[in-house]
Amino acid sequence: MKYKVVYEYVENSTKGMYMMKADLAFINGEVITMDKNSRIVEAVAIKENRIIFVGSNLEVKQLIESKTKVVDLCGKTLLPGFIDSHIHLPMYGLNQLSISCKASYKKSIDDIKQELRKKAKTVAKGQWIRAWGFNETTIKENRYLSIQELDEISTEHPIMITRTCGHICLVNSKALEIAGINSQTSNPDGGVIERDSNGDLTGKLIETANMRMNEIAKYTEKELRQAVRIASDHFVQAGITSIHEAGVSDSDTYRLLQEAVKNNDIAVRVYAIICTLNNSHEFVEKMLAAGVLTGTGDERFKIGPAKIFTDGSSTGPTIATREPYTSDPNNHGILYYSEEEIYRVLGEAHKKGYQITVHAQGDRAIEMYLNCVERALKEHPREDHRHRIEHAGISTPDLQERMKKLGVIPIPNPPFPYEFGEIYVNNYGERVNYMYPVRDFIDKGIICAGGSDAPVTDYNPLIGIHTAVNRKSSSNSEIGLNQKVTVMEAIKIYTINGAYASFEEDIKGSLEVGKLADLVVLDNSILRQNQNCIKDLKVEMTVIDGQIVYKNEAVVRA
Ligand SMILES: [Zn+2]
Repeated sequence: MKYKVVYEYVENSTKGMYMMKADLAFINGEVITMDKNSRIVEAVAIKENRIIFVGSNLEVKQLIESKTKVVDLCGKTLLPGFIDSHIHLPMYGLNQLSISCKASYKKSIDDIKQELRKKAKTVAKGQWIRAWGFNETTIKENRYLSIQELDEISTEHPIMITRTCGHICLVNSKALEIAGINSQTSNPDGGVIERDSNGDLTGKLIETANMRMNEIAKYTEKELRQAVRIASDHFVQAGITSIHEAGVSDSDTYRLLQEAVKNNDIAVRVYAIICTLNNSHEFVEKMLAAGVLTGTGDERFKIGPAKIFTDGSSTGPTIATREPYTSDPNNHGILYYSEEEIYRVLGEAHKKGYQITVHAQGDRAIEMYLNCVERALKEHPREDHRHRIEHAGISTPDLQERMKKLGVIPIPNPPFPYEFGEIYVNNYGERVNYMYPVRDFIDKGIICAGGSDAPVTDYNPLIGIHTAVNRKSSSNSEIGLNQKVTVMEAIKIYTINGAYASFEEDIKGSLEVGKLADLVVLDNSILRQNQNCIKDLKVEMTVIDGQIVYKNEAVVRA
């Protein structure tokens, strides 16, 4: 019914276009519409929460009256609002409440220890001390902290340091005690409780062992409410108007996310993938049993696909590969489930009409999932299923062919090579030429959409676009130059293709009459910008539902 209403509105507004006056109009811009013809025009007009005009400066004048707010873009870029098709909103927000190991001034283990010690003084005994964004490859000592070092900070507070990938953590003895883990505890399926050569616990928890600890180190509902607001504010400031929430810590978080939308606490639109980080199959099964179906909801919140984790992290490295890692001939990574188990859960979801997806980074994990999709479609054929694959890390040509044939939408992470490029070259060698292969996807006619996977890496879509265009790391290493795309192609995967991946291309993702008025203004022209400087562009204004939800006063005044 919602869609019908939209169409009626379009018809009326087109017919009566010159009678209807705009609330908000943008003129003199480099307006990149991302419509079917990739038109670039000068002006856009908005009435209430819809776009009522896209075209020339001359024509838009007829829609402007004294009450219309007119923004002169002076040649700057105006785009459809960015869609991040794979991001973790509550997790990002919660990290903002804890210690960041990402901050550039923290360059050594001592720096991190100092921050933890400071925090221990302010936090009540028994309460958690958490840090995130740890990356052993970017700190001076090039190693993890030991459990002894963490116990020196405190034995009365549980301490948890989450690695930048979110798939590995370090904890102290108090945290292990709370989790009931001792040296006799066996490794969970798909995970490792690391021990040293004497069999003593090192405090390092990998994959499912980490995910379980994540659930134990739970935040309060008050913290969660605060976290989702912070995250939405940050995303909006980066021009993100819609997100695909890629997985929450538990069902309480899934509920609080909906509550935040209902209470207007968050501005971004949410396509909420059915997935929890720990025991993702159980959560999917519960939601299937409850009959919570993909697509239910409205323009602000919709239920997304059913998703489970199949392998690990690209930087861990813990992804499941067909050939061993270049850095370690004995390592093929970690699988969470067997192919039969993946099919049991997601085959059922497919049969019941859900969109399905998996976290799959390595070529072995991707292949297993594609086998499942193929089998599901054979047994229960379905048109326009839009089944996805999150990350699609190492997508070799044979896997790309199968994605194309099966109609699977990969959701690569274009910004990953920017932060992690050198780690990829070290662990996967030549395979970097097929990592997040956006060029290949486009050339094969595979529709793909981009996600930052924040807090894993920076949520700024301009870094994603920048890296898709340049394929260089932050230290300027070339990471699979064969996958470079044009600026317009990169924008497409952050706008209309994201809308397609959530079945919403009729209402958003491009600037067209009748669509939702979600848009972003940059502080310069993205098409005339030096391609090596795209990441330096700033967002000047973000509009969601026709409302200016963010304005960078500093830039506007400059
Ligand atoms: Zn993710």
